[in-house]
Amino acid sequence: MPAPERPALLILGGTAEAVALADALMDAWGTEYQVITSLAGRTRTPRQPRGRVRTGGFGGAESLARYLVTHEVRVMIDATHPFARGISENARRAGANAGVPRLALLRPPWEPGPGDDWRLFSNLNAVAAELPGAGRRVFLTVGRTELAAFRDCRETRFLVRMIDSPDVSLPVPSSEVITGRGPFDVESEKGLMTEHKIDVLVCKASGGSATRAKLDAARELGLPVLMVARPDPPAGPCVADIDAALAWVREQVT
Ligand code: NAP
Repeated sequence: MPAPERPALLILGGTAEAVALADALMDAWGTEYQVITSLAGRTRTPRQPRGRVRTGGFGGAESLARYLVTHEVRVMIDATHPFARGISENARRAGANAGVPRLALLRPPWEPGPGDDWRLFSNLNAVAAELPGAGRRVFLTVGRTELAAFRDCRETRFLVRMIDSPDVSLPVPSSEVITGRGPFDVESEKGLMTEHKIDVLVCKASGGSATRAKLDAARELGLPVLMVARPDPPAGPCVADIDAALAWVREQVT
């Protein structure tokens, strides 16, 4: 007879923080619990966390709640990206319905400093409307699925950075694609922007350290940054680092 499954600690992942958390949970509780990381399946070669990985949507909040029950999930840590609001809301509802404690692990936001020229917008359509007056050669670092917002920017040349090279042509009219995954450093970001004669950076206010260097590079080069403001954090308990997440898990499982 197969050994019974151990109860689980579930991480909703897709971020570097989720990978680091899986590592820390495996070290602390890997013999008592299964550590499961859930990925949406958006990238071809995601970083592989320690422990178990499941991939693909759950099918909504109710299905996620059922998953929590059938897999005996003791705690769920939502370590998804700050802009991934659909899954975070599903996690909040599913945790409440299944009676499973849920924590949000959310990287710290970026704060502008002296010399930064950051212009904040509520969404990428608003950024696209502003682009013609802001620059002609744009470094665009938003997700593959969000590029359509720029389809009417016909006077603009885009340098698009993505994790995977695209297998279909991009919806932006004039573009060059480079691939890369953070962390990036300021000197190489400056070199890239200089080489491509970039005059404006477009990004989302994701926060954290892995992709911060482009902002420092833009400041040093005197370039404006058009940035989508970060959504409000999900309701409920929320921490900004792995140690605080571990302390919360410890409170729940002991
Ligand atoms: P989203 O809009 O919040 O979620 C859309 C749907 O994708 C969810 O309802 C869920 O499907 C599924 N999903 C999302 N994350 C999942 C996960 N970790 N495990 C299983 N299913 C998941 O998400 P998104 O903004 O498209 O982001 C998708 C993933 O990419 C997230 O895991 C996020 O951490 C990562 N990511 C996002 C961004 C960003 O800018 N949005 C940047 C970097 C990484 P069901 O309803 O079927 O369960």
